[in-house]
Amino acid sequence: MNFHKHLSDLPTYQAGKPLEDVIASYHILPEDIIKLGSNENPLGVAPSAKEAIIKYANLASVYPDDSYRDIKESLANKYQIQAQNIIIGSGSDQIIEFCVHAICDSTKTVLMAQHTFAMYEIYAKQCNAKIIKTTDFFHNLDSMREMYRMYKPEIIFLCTPNNPLGEALKRIDIMEFLNGISADCLVILDCAYMEYCAYKDLDYAVSPKDIVNLPNVIYLGTFSKIYGLGGMRIGYGIANNALIALLHKLRPPFNVTTLSLKAANAALLDTDFINKTLDNNLTQMQEYRKFAEKYSLEILESYGNFVTFLLHNKLNSIKIVALLLQQGIVVRDLTSYGLNAIRVTIGMPKQNEIFFQKMADILDSY
Ligand SMILES: *Cc1c(COP(=O)(O)O)cnc(C)c1O
Repeated sequence: MNFHKHLSDLPTYQAGKPLEDVIASYHILPEDIIKLGSNENPLGVAPSAKEAIIKYANLASVYPDDSYRDIKESLANKYQIQAQNIIIGSGSDQIIEFCVHAICDSTKTVLMAQHTFAMYEIYAKQCNAKIIKTTDFFHNLDSMREMYRMYKPEIIFLCTPNNPLGEALKRIDIMEFLNGISADCLVILDCAYMEYCAYKDLDYAVSPKDIVNLPNVIYLGTFSKIYGLGGMRIGYGIANNALIALLHKLRPPFNVTTLSLKAANAALLDTDFINKTLDNNLTQMQEYRKFAEKYSLEILESYGNFVTFLLHNKLNSIKIVALLLQQGIVVRDLTSYGLNAIRVTIGMPKQNEIFFQKMADILDSY
């Protein structure tokens, strides 16, 4: 067959290890597994979303309303924008795909930070686009600006808070940066963890309203993280009308499910669930800091719902992740990101305690 030549170099995204694999290989009971590898909400599904899924189960046989009117109205209300500024995707991942596929081919260049979400590179490579990265450890807007001037990329990715390192950019710095980018370059602001970030420090909070009047910027949000709906595959992009209208040309009809829409709409309005999640995250993040201090581990300042430990000396992330997995604890090894580090989703107090205990045992006997 005649596949695109450039597809042979394409890496396949390694998602957090599925629970089924763990169960099968170590004979651990499903209820004993502690899943801290994919930045899901440790509180689970919002009660209101669960209710909606049950209530509307009969609608699984019908196609959704393809205009996605209800969820767009809810999002428009929440963010004080218009419904026509919104596109809905099967996860915000799909919006990234639309953006990259709408622009990239072998003559185009995509700029991103050195250690950032793996899917940016994968979508760019699907189109055989050139990928350039800043060399700083964290996002550095000065370096981004410099590389923008030098290489004139067609797309710039900013991930704030950044997965997998956890750093965030200040709103004022983002706005100044956007000011210096001309309209022929699309800036994708991936804000998958923005709710957590805004709760921690408002100086780092960006809102779709800030960018919706700019011609070349899109804000991405998701229901997979704080809204507890990773399994429902729904996310969104928010930008000016013209950009959203263009992206809609790439959207397949019915790209999200009827029940995902119902669940997302319910979760969006469940402030009690969201507040509990935010509170648990920030409180428990302190426990992770204490743990790191006690065991002299380097932990990065995080604005998301996860923390990243940079490992030193003889500590090896592949080995540590494997040892934790044998005991039913799933965390994310960052070797594929070029780092000797592990990323741990902040769980419920009980889950975190068990992680601390098992991790301490591993460190003591290393
Ligand atoms: C989780 C995540 C997403 C999107 O996830 P979806 O489930 O596709 O909505 C996007 N960007 C980053 C940085 C993420 O961590």
